[in-house]
Amino acid sequence: MNGKLNIFEETMAHMTYVQIEEAARKGTIVLFPTGVIEEHGPHLPLAVDVYGSYLQSRAIKKELELKEIKALIAPPFYWGVNIATGSFGGSFTSREETVVSVLFDAMACLKRWGFDQVFFINHHMDGDHVKALDKAIQKARMEIGIAALWVIDQFFVKRLGLKEDEPCLLIHKSLIASGPPPLNLNIHAEAYETSFMWHYLPDLVNYEVLKTLKPTNLTLKDLEVWSRGGSEARRVTPQGYFGDPAAADPERGRIEIETLGKVAAEAISAFLQSH
Ligand SMILES: [Zn+2]
Repeated sequence: MNGKLNIFEETMAHMTYVQIEEAARKGTIVLFPTGVIEEHGPHLPLAVDVYGSYLQSRAIKKELELKEIKALIAPPFYWGVNIATGSFGGSFTSREETVVSVLFDAMACLKRWGFDQVFFINHHMDGDHVKALDKAIQKARMEIGIAALWVIDQFFVKRLGLKEDEPCLLIHKSLIASGPPPLNLNIHAEAYETSFMWHYLPDLVNYEVLKTLKPTNLTLKDLEVWSRGGSEARRVTPQGYFGDPAAADPERGRIEIETLGKVAAEAISAFLQSH
């Protein structure tokens, strides 16, 4: 793949209405990628999170097919909430109620067409963004009775202070090393995001700039300040990245997306069997 990767490829947006209606009749599940358009340092484009959730969804779909579970991918959503990076050019941010409304409406459409099961694949952990996502899912479950779930790594359940027994969460085993957090955190536009962009969209990485980027050596305390956004966030990460992007490796990018695909598909399959 190159910089021309098309985020509609293999999604509902490239299908006909005839195919959509047939898929609904067959009890096909829907994977819903959610990300944002936001700055990702001087070496990566704004769309990293959208590509991240899209690539993860494709990897999950591929694994589900091996288990003979039919899945569709909804058109990737990208008008999310950006607080931490909101002071940088290009970080589009929406109000919480906008995000809740758009996602709720999309789920109402899916339900009306006959889809009952939606799994959100989210690649953006801004506190206010995940709050909006959570609200949209809860509201849709309550008001239209759609079985919507958010597929999430165990690590982020803890980090975001979510409840493990919350019925709208589908928690999969963590791909992030357990134990105390490292002193130098990798949070944003760092080695992981740079690695998968390098593998899947190599034309969109600025390698000249990448090799000049020094590790930020920031801690949990810095993360708290950064999360509040505004000029303080800009002071913590003057170049817009949080971590060590120069440690990126395209092979790592491929492995991490594929591993996520396996682990998340495993969780979805186990969930479907038990329900
Ligand atoms: Zn990102």
